[in-house]
Amino acid sequence: MANCQLLTMAARALITFSPMTDCLFCKIIAGSIPSKKVYEDEKVFAFEDIKPGAPTHVLIVPKKHIAGVDHLTEADTEVVGYSHLIAAKIAKERKLEHGFRTVYNVGPDAGQTVFHLHLHLLGGRQMHWPPG
Ligand code: AMP
Ligand code: ZN
Repeated sequence: MANCQLLTMAARALITFSPMTDCLFCKIIAGSIPSKKVYEDEKVFAFEDIKPGAPTHVLIVPKKHIAGVDHLTEADTEVVGYSHLIAAKIAKERKLEHGFRTVYNVGPDAGQTVFHLHLHLLGGRQMHWPPG
């Protein structure tokens, strides 16, 4: 393989996995800000929400920095589905057989406050619809 191709691949890998230095959730993933870890593998990191809105409130976060659902590209489709799979696994472990909710807040109208994609997993109480 030509040197320039190798360099391009290395640069792409660096861009994909580099944490954003000013991103709260990148810092949590890196361990430089503490969190109550629930699950981790090479693709996602899950931890307890600091201000739980239900008895179970876990955030499932891709290790790649993505600002939000409105910043997804086709390259991100797998991790979005995978995050739901992990949410269902955690729900099963927590015995949420009566149900649970998964939510992505997108943008200011939906109340998004952290601009690193995160799937909320909420459960352990009756949910209301429509949500506030
Ligand atoms: P959103 O409003 O959808 O952007 O959700 C951000 C979530 O991150 C909120 O539910 C916050 O309570 C939660 N959060 C903020 N800071 C931390 C932290 N240091 N550790 C865990 N969860 C956090
Ligand atoms: Zn980030």
